[in-house]
Amino acid sequence: MLIIGSHVSFSKDQLLGSVKEAISYGSNAFMFYTGAPQNTVRSSIDDYKTIEAYNLMQENKIALEHVVCHAPYIINLANNKELDKYRFSIDFLIKELERCALLGIKNIVLHPGSAVGLDRVDALKNIIYALNLALDTTDSVTVCLETMAGKGTELGIDLDEMSTLIDGINKKELIGVCLDTCHLNDSGVSIEKFDEYLNEFDKKIGIDKIKVVHINDSKNALGSHKDRHELLGFGTIGFDNLMNVIYNPRLENIPKILETPYVSKSEDAKERDYPPYKFEIEEIRSRTFDENIQTKIREFYSK
Ligand code: FE
Ligand code: FE
Ligand code: ZN
Repeated sequence: MLIIGSHVSFSKDQLLGSVKEAISYGSNAFMFYTGAPQNTVRSSIDDYKTIEAYNLMQENKIALEHVVCHAPYIINLANNKELDKYRFSIDFLIKELERCALLGIKNIVLHPGSAVGLDRVDALKNIIYALNLALDTTDSVTVCLETMAGKGTELGIDLDEMSTLIDGINKKELIGVCLDTCHLNDSGVSIEKFDEYLNEFDKKIGIDKIKVVHINDSKNALGSHKDRHELLGFGTIGFDNLMNVIYNPRLENIPKILETPYVSKSEDAKERDYPPYKFEIEEIRSRTFDENIQTKIREFYSK
């Protein structure tokens, strides 16, 4: 079965708001941040809303195991030059794991971190140390390390770094990987040869470690180390290559999550107001690229 959704907001009515938004796109999976991705302001979990969300999910055939959380970007487990910031990142991740457990969420996606001034080997050790501390506090939530584009000093940009990280984790059952097609492209992995990548992934890490896949086209060339997402079929990866990832039989039971950019109200407007996900999910289900998707999105949301 195709398991498809997008990232959705959590700030309106917590999980209940997320479910409603996911349903409006025709999703059977979704991903949310427990607050703004750029900051660490978080409200406490309201159990009544969570129960209401579960009921709505059941009615709409969204399985809880297909719902994933994403930790905020500002968590950086790689750099311990400023010990208070390092400790803050670890503590914040621990609180995110608690919030996931309260919500019944099994998987949280995390950017491994950026070395900023540290040697990459030391930075990887810091991540491993931090993850082991955080994972010691849970027995139900899996941290899914996202494959990164290699922007700046990001870590987790190839299979060797990823397997180094995973090898260092004590609780192997609570560590996974989130593939991001835009990040893979920008890090130098051709999505045209996605099956070869999966073979290599299986050899070095084990394909069962893949828990989530982010589906994005890329604004930039293969190996550009940029990380700028694009609507499906409008970037350098292309619609057909993305379809091959989405419908890859080896990833059949894994949630596919869209993080493509919102569409502006008009072609020259700067603000991006309209989510493309309802329309992209239609494209995916029908396996048909729609070059007029932006016009359709504008028409739909301006009514
Ligand atoms: Fe991410
Ligand atoms: Fe991503
Ligand atoms: Zn990205």
